[in-house]
Amino acid sequence: MLRVFLEKIPQSKQDMFTALIVFVIAYSVAAFFDINEQWMEIAEEYESFELDEIPFGLAFLAMVFAWFTWRRWSEKEESEKQLKEQIGLTREREKRLSTVQAATITKSKQLTLLREMTEFLMLSDSSAECFSVFSNYLSKLLPNVSGAVFFEKSNNCSLQHCWGGDATVNMPFSSKDCWALRTGKTYDSYAGICSHPCAARSVDQLCVPIKSSDKLHGILTLYRESCFDDALAELYFANRDELLDLLQPACDLLGIALSNIALRERLSDESNRDVLTGLLNRKGFVQAATREMKNALASQEKMSFMMFDIDHFKEVNDQYGHDVGDAVLVYFSDIISNNIRAEDILCRYGGEEFLLIMPNTTINFAYQKSEELRLAVQDALIPAQSGVDISITFSGGLSCFPEEGQTLRELIKTADVALYDAKRMGRNKITAKLISSTQASQGPVL
Ligand code: GH3
Ligand code: MG
Ligand code: MG
Repeated sequence: MLRVFLEKIPQSKQDMFTALIVFVIAYSVAAFFDINEQWMEIAEEYESFELDEIPFGLAFLAMVFAWFTWRRWSEKEESEKQLKEQIGLTREREKRLSTVQAATITKSKQLTLLREMTEFLMLSDSSAECFSVFSNYLSKLLPNVSGAVFFEKSNNCSLQHCWGGDATVNMPFSSKDCWALRTGKTYDSYAGICSHPCAARSVDQLCVPIKSSDKLHGILTLYRESCFDDALAELYFANRDELLDLLQPACDLLGIALSNIALRERLSDESNRDVLTGLLNRKGFVQAATREMKNALASQEKMSFMMFDIDHFKEVNDQYGHDVGDAVLVYFSDIISNNIRAEDILCRYGGEEFLLIMPNTTINFAYQKSEELRLAVQDALIPAQSGVDISITFSGGLSCFPEEGQTLRELIKTADVALYDAKRMGRNKITAKLISSTQASQGPVL
């Protein structure tokens, strides 16, 4: 039996060795308790010596049982250990995977927001709109982080938009006090260690310049007002480079958009302006007048127009030449510009014909203002040649919104008719359909 066991069951030298030890222990236990002797006594009593080997057999069975139990127990222990290791590894891998997944989801959300922001920035009509789009998307890109965007103009930084924290932190400041603007690079006083403290603001901040290839437009600043405001701290200390990798492209996009707006405005402004006098041309006048009429309609206020034309201007050209005629036109437009209010809009309608838009002005007040202008021109001495000064006059016709027309065309027509009347009545006069002819001025004619 022992031979069969030793040949068939043990799987390794170690198993065999273990089995022998268990056998010896079992046999020793049997001997210790004198099981064999007791058994022999029982065998003698029953006169059956064939039962002699039973204790040895029992010991052997005990050994087999013990060996199997031990083997199964150690196998179970080994497989449990392996299982635990596997579970640990799987959990570790799952954890890493979910971290990578979360980072990928965040990155893809950020990219989607940046793409959306780019579209809106490219479609924005004004720099104010660009700043508004930018700040809106920044607050989505970095939720719970306080921030502000400042616009730089003539060495001053003014707040355009802020989100998160207290708006009173964002006072305007001089560009000279801003390291981000002075260096054109990211300024970081956030970690609290900064060899060159910010003179403009006293909060912990991260400032990124908003620039395009040709210009610095302003700065984006993310800040924390108190140690409780820790959303930025989390992002900052987790991965400062990753945070900057997000902010810099966003600021660059805003810079490009602002540059485009400036270029568009410059081109549009140039196409709306008269080259000789720098005043709005006919196209610029139509835009400005339409806008002002809308405002007047919304605010229920009156608005007046004056169409005016230099008297006998042909004679100036004929007598002094076209170049002097040009200089006189510039001089004339300067006199008018210097004598109107900031809200009035002067346009060169064509040739020596001009239009003045007077928002929030009744016809009587417009008449009074026009008379002042007429007298200012009449009294001016314009240098024509060395030692020769000339004087000119103009005639003007007024119209008033809304009494004399609901459309620009009607208002211009009314003013033009009044101008024709002023010319017909002897020039150097201001006339208006709504003002009695006795009120019309009787100034001298050139
Ligand atoms: P009226 O009092 O009826 O307005 O007489 P006027 O001579 O001013 O009017 P007219 O229409 O006969 O002549 C206008 C002149 O203005 C003719 C034109 O050569 C001149 N003119 C128009 N535009 C310019 C310009 O840009 N530069 C110069 N130098 N002359 C111009
Ligand atoms: Mg004329
Ligand atoms: Mg004319």
